Amino acid sequence: MLIFRQLFDPQSSTYSYLLGDRAGGQAILIDPVFEQAARDAALIKELDLHLGATIDTHAHADHVTGAWLLKSRLGSKIAISAASGAQGADIELGDGDRIEFGGRYLTALSTPGHTDGCMTFVLDNETMAFTGDALLIRGCGRTDFQQGSTHQLYQSIRTRIFTLPDSCLLYPAHDYQGLTVTSVEEEKSFNPRVGGNTSESDFSGYMQNLGLPHPRQIDVALPANMRCGRPEDETLASNEPSWAPLTFTFAGFWEIDPIWVQEHGDEFQVIDVRGEEEFNGPLGHIRGARLMPLNTLSETTASLDKDKPVVTVCRSGARSAQAVTLLKKAGFTEVANMAGGMLRWNAQNLPAEGARD
Ligand code: FE
Repeated sequence: MLIFRQLFDPQSSTYSYLLGDRAGGQAILIDPVFEQAARDAALIKELDLHLGATIDTHAHADHVTGAWLLKSRLGSKIAISAASGAQGADIELGDGDRIEFGGRYLTALSTPGHTDGCMTFVLDNETMAFTGDALLIRGCGRTDFQQGSTHQLYQSIRTRIFTLPDSCLLYPAHDYQGLTVTSVEEEKSFNPRVGGNTSESDFSGYMQNLGLPHPRQIDVALPANMRCGRPEDETLASNEPSWAPLTFTFAGFWEIDPIWVQEHGDEFQVIDVRGEEEFNGPLGHIRGARLMPLNTLSETTASLDKDKPVVTVCRSGARSAQAVTLLKKAGFTEVANMAGGMLRWNAQNLPAEGARD
């Protein structure tokens, strides 16, 4: 029996795909996201699977791959195309290579154009293919950076993806509208960029006039992905704290979800590192939070209880991340940053004290 799970990272709108063979319990994971490594590892364990390899469809520009982190936790091999130029992979894939999991396998097809190293992975019986950013649902990956080429992408989609069986289901690396799956037949008919009778020159005209903003994460994500997601400080990522379900960020600290803070706030010390005006300003503050502004924090840490975990909070999550670093230097071991700060707290409609309308 084939095990198949589509997983989502809301921050980058990335889909990761877990494929497993029930007989023997071997699995692979396509396009893992760094911040979701704990979730992915937990699911793999619950399903009683052994992760043989992670596979990246390409060197992503919008999120850091979880390949290195999952390898360090689960011993999985790292696979990516040789053409990606990424360093530190265990398996450098070429066109036509097979990746086996139990009695099943994927075939790697070179589908460059979004990047030089893009690959599409086709399941053995051609009922499913994982297209990365080459083909998206009613769209395709951009071609305006990272060796992008409209000529190559058009050829890749038309001659390698659209030649799969019409009924083959296609799973992309991203969707920004909440769509989850499409098919060869659907994209051949309805993809406004490359479907129907669009010619290569129609396609390149379309692609050259997209006017997309520069990806937010590219300066961090791309260099990180060129080393398969290995962080600067390797030791930090391996010791997972147990006092709360935390997420390790590629920047090197642990983050906690606002909802967990709301529900478990009495189990740790919540400190707000903004200024007093902001603390009592429109965003308000968390009930029970102590005001300890960042600029004086190093002088006030002595008043904190060293045996109780600390959660730091600010407006957006940036200053509080600095506070985490500062507290760690001061000898606190159980410290986490509240993800997204009071902005996310309010966006999630959690109760804020002292908030003015
Ligand atoms: Fe991409």
